[in-house]
Amino acid sequence: MKKNTQNRISRRSLFRNTAAAAALGPLFKATQGSVSAQSRVNRNSAPSGLKITDMRACRVAANYDYPIIKIFTNQDVYGLGEVRDAGVEGIALILKPYLVGKDPLTIEANLRGLRQFANHGRMGGGYSAVDMALHDIAGKVYGVPAYRLVGSKQRDRIRIYADTTDHKDPKIYAERMRKRKEMGLTFFKMDLHTELVADRPGAVNERGVATEKGLGYLCEYIEAIRDVIGWGTPLAADHFGPLNVKDAIRYAKAFEQYQLSWAEDMVPWTNWQGLKEIRNTTTTPILTGEDVFGLRGGFDALIDNHAVDAIHPDIETSGGLLETKRIADYAALAGVQVAMHHAGSPVGGFAGYHCAATFSNFLAMENHALDMPWWQDLVAGVPKPIVDKGYVAVPERPGLGIELNDDVVKEHLRRPGYFEPTPMFDDPIVSGFHPGGAWPHFDENGKWCNCVSYQ
Ligand SMILES: [Mg+2]
Repeated sequence: MKKNTQNRISRRSLFRNTAAAAALGPLFKATQGSVSAQSRVNRNSAPSGLKITDMRACRVAANYDYPIIKIFTNQDVYGLGEVRDAGVEGIALILKPYLVGKDPLTIEANLRGLRQFANHGRMGGGYSAVDMALHDIAGKVYGVPAYRLVGSKQRDRIRIYADTTDHKDPKIYAERMRKRKEMGLTFFKMDLHTELVADRPGAVNERGVATEKGLGYLCEYIEAIRDVIGWGTPLAADHFGPLNVKDAIRYAKAFEQYQLSWAEDMVPWTNWQGLKEIRNTTTTPILTGEDVFGLRGGFDALIDNHAVDAIHPDIETSGGLLETKRIADYAALAGVQVAMHHAGSPVGGFAGYHCAATFSNFLAMENHALDMPWWQDLVAGVPKPIVDKGYVAVPERPGLGIELNDDVVKEHLRRPGYFEPTPMFDDPIVSGFHPGGAWPHFDENGKWCNCVSYQ
């Protein structure tokens, strides 16, 4: 009897499901498709026993030094990450005792524990490097490119922008930019130091800030470069020297006729009120952010207050892939665009390319090493040239999609040692606090227990 009831229910539910499937049609098929797609994900390397075992580093001597880290696991999968250019690897290695023994795939929980050790500028480099390495590991384990872990692909290649060294002679400066154009670049930036004109009579005031006459001289450089790259080609400007808000407004208004893509870091990023005042007074777009870590307490004030037209995170400071994706998405809601700063190695570069591939509000990402032929030789696994006619292809290989070219990296080490053991970082050296530790306390009987916390 029971069996018959079951059979009847089965037949009824089968009929219902078939009828529903017929009614829903394409949706039913799509759902079935996604279930079978999930079953194709390779999870062979994702057992619960996957653990972080070690973190090591080396430092490449380059235009700015590139501190590169490796996070190792107990199952021969490792991840690569990079600390902010001109930073040092110690800012990542001090995080090692908080990671060893943890599951590298629980990326958000691991990063939450490290957030107290991250801050703006180079102090964001350790957290950011760990984020990259964890995404490299997770991508390799799940068999997906790193961009898949933070979003979906909005573009197959990343537009690159670059500047060049400046020169007091506008013609020579413009010729240097012509060489950038001949490399195939489609987006340019120029340093516009006020010092370029400081030795001309009447060009700067007592604070070294350009007078009206000096601004006219600075505009000669923009004009010379515009004549070379074209008046409709994206061109940004940076490094004006220390300016106050009123100075910045004068500069930005003088540049309006050249329709710059942005004027960068005119006043310090912490002064969002000043940036907002500048932005509200000029048509020149205003951008900042290369030294900002994180959304909360970092980019949020710039975005919430509409203080800038575009933000400029450097993924080696801003918090790696996960946090930078959050920042970019939050900016998109406010209509703020995202350009990306970068002056590091291809390791941090590819972390940025994966992340930028998912942005809806992306402009371009910097490359600061176009004059260093061995920059792209530091890594293998991706098509060369990495920057091809001004764009980088987003890899489809698992993780970041790159391996280090050990021989080339070893040729350019700042100091001897290549991913040597780091036992000096086994114990906490900046903070021993952890909840639930055996700290000195009164026990339930009111007796003072002077426990040794590190045992
Ligand atoms: Mg800059």
